[in-house]
Amino acid sequence: MVKAVFPGSFDPPTFGHLNIIERARGIFEELYVVVAVNRQKTGLFSPEERLGLLQELLAPYGNVSVHLCDSLIVNFARDHGCRVLVRGVRSVPDFSYEFELSILNKGLDPGIETIFMPTDPKYFVLRSSAIKELAAFDGDLTNMVPTQVAEAVRRKVREENRG
Ligand code: ADP
Repeated sequence: MVKAVFPGSFDPPTFGHLNIIERARGIFEELYVVVAVNRQKTGLFSPEERLGLLQELLAPYGNVSVHLCDSLIVNFARDHGCRVLVRGVRSVPDFSYEFELSILNKGLDPGIETIFMPTDPKYFVLRSSAIKELAAFDGDLTNMVPTQVAEAVRRKVREENRG
């Protein structure tokens, strides 16, 4: 039985993330989706809000659970008996970043393997930063994120504009 971790910022979760999650949960016995907390970076959503969005989206999936982690991902994986880190790749620049990260993680814990999953071509231009920019201009997010995420993004952008 192999358990895996899918770590990321998920600020916000997109159809690209969900596609990787759906595919990975078909391969691994259990998938831990982990919101990696970086308190130095302020995102659009707080880590707790991202956790809430993911919990709502992933509730129907029996072998998927959602967690917050503010320590090293390899430590989280080891503590939960997971031997694999799953990462999605969209492009060659993505790959070179992910490759370096995987070497770093391998150095931290040689017992944990990183597995790369190429994006579905439908989602290869999809990134969370583009969604935030589009939302600021009230762009249509329908093809990028689930309805509840699009609503949460619009609410958040309105709040930020007011504050
Ligand atoms: P990070 O800040 O750690 O890169 P992200 O939330 O941006 O976190 O992404 C988490 C993981 O999901 C990463 O492996 C990233 O490459 C992958 N990912 C993000 N968007 C897509 C997409 N459209 N298709 C496939 N993988 C994606």
